[in-house]
Amino acid sequence: MINILDTGVKRSKNVDNFIFGEGSLGELESLLLEQKKARNDYVIYFVDEYFINSEILNSLPVSHMDQLIYVETKHEPTTQYIDKIRDEIMQSLATFYNPAAVVGMGGGITMDVAKAISNLLTNGGKAKDYQGWDLVKKPGIYKIGIPTISGTGAEATRTCVMTNKENGLKLGMNSDKTVFNEVILDPTLSKTVPRDQYFYTGMDAYIHCVEALNGSYRNAIGDTYSKMSIDLCKEVFFDKDMMSDTNREKLMIASYLGGCAIATTYVGVVHPFSAGLSVVLDTHHCISNCIVLNVLGEFYPEQHIEFKEMLEKQNITLPKGLCANLTKDEYDSLYEATIIHEKPLYNALGKEFREILNKEKVIEIFKSI
Ligand code: NAD
Ligand code: ZN
Repeated sequence: MINILDTGVKRSKNVDNFIFGEGSLGELESLLLEQKKARNDYVIYFVDEYFINSEILNSLPVSHMDQLIYVETKHEPTTQYIDKIRDEIMQSLATFYNPAAVVGMGGGITMDVAKAISNLLTNGGKAKDYQGWDLVKKPGIYKIGIPTISGTGAEATRTCVMTNKENGLKLGMNSDKTVFNEVILDPTLSKTVPRDQYFYTGMDAYIHCVEALNGSYRNAIGDTYSKMSIDLCKEVFFDKDMMSDTNREKLMIASYLGGCAIATTYVGVVHPFSAGLSVVLDTHHCISNCIVLNVLGEFYPEQHIEFKEMLEKQNITLPKGLCANLTKDEYDSLYEATIIHEKPLYNALGKEFREILNKEKVIEIFKSI
């Protein structure tokens, strides 16, 4: 029997507005016109580098005053990368004053970069100054999120994940100010996602909600979002064509609901191990989650079986032997980078989490990856 604790989340912040449906990207221009009040008002677009040569770029209402910045996705964002982009924007002659709006179009990386820059432009300082909870004091620039791949829920959450390479801290700007003002959910945009990536990122929604529902910190609204999101993920990943028009639409909704769910509660055992992998071996968030859930049957027995069935149904393979032959220092770092995530581990395992996941056990799990 689960002991249901209070999450401590007293007031929950959702995005102000969202538009959903095929072709809804076409609404972007009128949304931006609402924000552009003076003749010199301009917009900064952050666009996933995948779209550099894409037709979709032509449908963005970019004017000669606006700035278009392509976001690198080879590595997940660091605080240093965010500061560098901000400095480049500040040095550009066009920007004696802040933009009227910031648009982030892409996956979790691009949306997180847009959120972070929006906050930095009005609050000053460096990205690392805001890693934590409720440290952002002023509202950011009005921001619009446009996901082009579904699963992380970054379009709905109050955080933007980044790693400070100086101290290895992977933590976002958790703040109501980080939430998008407007989100455009247009399922046509995820048509071009490679199959493997579509599966890995989609699974982030499933995993967020599985961890939330199996935790001790719960709340009724978060539970409802989680259940709906899991049902949609199962419909998508047990179907023969997970990327059909209908399934891309469903996964976009699952991602959004998963983001709303996680904003009211915590993750569990998968995310801390996944963060360990990302920090030490630089593997990306969503594939790391899949690699980890694949060996965590002990903690999530039912969902572990379900996950394997979905992998098989979609014919997706995961890398093997990633942590088989690492150095002692690397195993030590993996342990440290995992056990540091106290809140989710406590949520999943209770106050004895350090005994259940002692160093030997954590390293044994990593070795099985
Ligand atoms: P991503 O941004 O890592 O992109 C994954 C890959 O898909 C990239 O190569 C990208 O170029 C490509 N891509 C994106 N859209 C495409 C399209 N339509 N067609 C073809 N290729 C496309 O994607 P992700 O998995 O959504 O995001 C992971 C990031 O999200 C991590 O940095 C993680 O930390 C972060 N995250 C944030 C939150 C949050 O609440 N802010 C939650 C979970 C994860
Ligand atoms: Zn996640």
